[in-house]
Amino acid sequence: MSDFPRNAAPVLRFAPSPTGLIHVGNARTALLNALIARRSGGTFILRFDDTDAARSRAEYADAIAADLGWLGIAPDITVRQSDRIADYAAAAERLKAMGRLYPAYESEEELDLKRGLQRARGLPPVYDRAALALTPQDRARLEAEGRRPHWRFRLEHRVVAWDDGVRGPQQVDTSTLSDPVLVRADGSFLYTLPSVVDDLALGVTQVIRGEDHVTNTAVQIEIFAALGGPVPGFAHHNLLTLPSGEGLSKRLGHLSLSALREAGQEALAVAALSVLVGTSHAVEPVADLHALAAMVDLAAISRAPARFDPADLDALTARTLHIMPFSAAAARLEAAGIEGGEAFWLAVRANLSRFDDARGWWEIVAAPQAGVIAEDDRAFLTEAANLLPAEPWDGATWKAWTSAVKAATGRSGRGLFHPLRLALTSRETGPELAALLPLMGRARAEERLRGGVG
Ligand code: GLU
Repeated sequence: MSDFPRNAAPVLRFAPSPTGLIHVGNARTALLNALIARRSGGTFILRFDDTDAARSRAEYADAIAADLGWLGIAPDITVRQSDRIADYAAAAERLKAMGRLYPAYESEEELDLKRGLQRARGLPPVYDRAALALTPQDRARLEAEGRRPHWRFRLEHRVVAWDDGVRGPQQVDTSTLSDPVLVRADGSFLYTLPSVVDDLALGVTQVIRGEDHVTNTAVQIEIFAALGGPVPGFAHHNLLTLPSGEGLSKRLGHLSLSALREAGQEALAVAALSVLVGTSHAVEPVADLHALAAMVDLAAISRAPARFDPADLDALTARTLHIMPFSAAAARLEAAGIEGGEAFWLAVRANLSRFDDARGWWEIVAAPQAGVIAEDDRAFLTEAANLLPAEPWDGATWKAWTSAVKAATGRSGRGLFHPLRLALTSRETGPELAALLPLMGRARAEERLRGGVG
């Protein structure tokens, strides 16, 4: 299926409620929207669904914006539903005037009781629309008792169908649903109506969101139709879970992007795993988001929930670093005070598990330290030091030098290379010494081979 059902300029949005830190499941939603917008030259909107004043916090909104920036998908436009209440009120009035939004007065306890009775009779717990039968006198009496109405959207009780970008043709018979409450008794809006009003106002062409919203979609398609707007395309992706299969919770702080960032995971690895896990595409490292965008295929997303394993992320972070071009690393190296340029980066990147590991290798190259020298190797290393060629050094220096050391000492293989590595780097394994040696320079190398601090 193509990304967009209409010929309009593509407009997509990510619409989190700022009630907690976003997790990898939210990142999946955000990335699918942002990358499809980006690859088709469209607009990516960040919309904060913050009509629930009790649970929404400005700090969470700021943290979400920062997380998207870290992932590399800063939005083109940011809107807050709390700024747009007047538009929702106007839409609610229109629906009232059409007879599609009606007042209901049942308390939570009364609704619970009704549902209990329906279940006891083997019936689905669907709202019985008793409020539709209220006369103006009934309403006046209820209001005189101090009751304030909440407002329900009168569904058309029809089959709502759409061609879902992930799930294919979908049908929901809205006669199986309760008329949804759009406005609470205190006048505040639930998410359902504001979302439609905003999607219309912002010209959203495609809504990609988690499959927990499939039923909402049927309701919202009826609201789009009632408000006379074009219905966007819809695609509902599978949800990510913890390795245990437990659903991810923003409230419980599961797999939050900020925790993964603090743990040193690469943003590109988090992005690649969030987008590719639970699809028919293999999970693989990418060089940039452009490459990841080219791999996005809504039709390749599986229907079953997908487990997100942080252990897979460790491996993918390492593999992402192993292919990271210098251009992507340069600013971060500079910020960390790591010099050495492209030659250093290309020498060490294959040995990194985390970006910060580069610092340790930079210290080995550029900061004074003593090598590790076994007593038995002391004479051999002194001889190796005597054979160090004059600078300038380049990528061929290591080979020329070790060939000379081999010829002079008769050592070869591990007996030749291992003591040199330990003396030069103090580590058992690491990047190719052919690449590190020129960065280290002659004076430092010689000092370490002779047992000094160089
Ligand atoms: N605030 C809703 C959520 O976080 C948005 C759903 C949507 O994308 O319409 O699930």
